[in-house]
Amino acid sequence: MPLIGITAAQDDSAGRISLSEGYFRAVAKAGGTPVVLPPLPPAANLAALVKNLDGLILSGGGDVDPVYFGEEPLSGTGAINPERDDFEIRLARWALLNDLPVLGICRGMQVINIAAGGDICQDIAQWTGKPLKHSQEAPRWYPTHEISIISGSRLATILQTERLRVNSFHHQVIRRVAPGWRAVAWSKDGVLEAIEGPGLFTVGVQWHPETMWERYPVFLNLFRALVNASSR
Ligand code: MN
Repeated sequence: MPLIGITAAQDDSAGRISLSEGYFRAVAKAGGTPVVLPPLPPAANLAALVKNLDGLILSGGGDVDPVYFGEEPLSGTGAINPERDDFEIRLARWALLNDLPVLGICRGMQVINIAAGGDICQDIAQWTGKPLKHSQEAPRWYPTHEISIISGSRLATILQTERLRVNSFHHQVIRRVAPGWRAVAWSKDGVLEAIEGPGLFTVGVQWHPETMWERYPVFLNLFRALVNASSR
């Protein structure tokens, strides 16, 4: 069973890390062995860590420090966790360099895009166009907006559809897709909802499949695809 690392959230004020159960339950259900990764200090040997993993999930969470894409913080940027940013950006780069299968979820999609040289819009209020409600107040498992997926993309194959409804808990959106990556799904307001990169398996989704798969099994396909790619 492939070992799938899942990055944890870090709560500075409470002095603890945390991870929603949906992530590791999904990996286990998909046939992988989940292992939770705390933010390791800058001196940690990431090469050794990556060598021991078969796959990686960059999980959801707070905002990435805009310094990582060359911007000062705008007023719309929320809470930032420097240790988690540092760890995940370096981990994502190592993973991409070593062709480790990666699934980025919500913040994780933004982290991997930034790590690969793209950027994000710090707040959807500053985004051009008229955004839909992407910070839903419905239950976490409930899909609130539609996405369209590019025909023939890896994601369309995984989800076996080009249109479906997803949940939404983000106030930041990808702006410039990283070189070598491509946009593969959008909501109806033109907000980017998924990206794919080069290599064995590199997929980022803006929604949260880990809170949906128990009610909508199609979302488990994402974790299955990651586990399958990690088994090679
Ligand atoms: Mn959304």
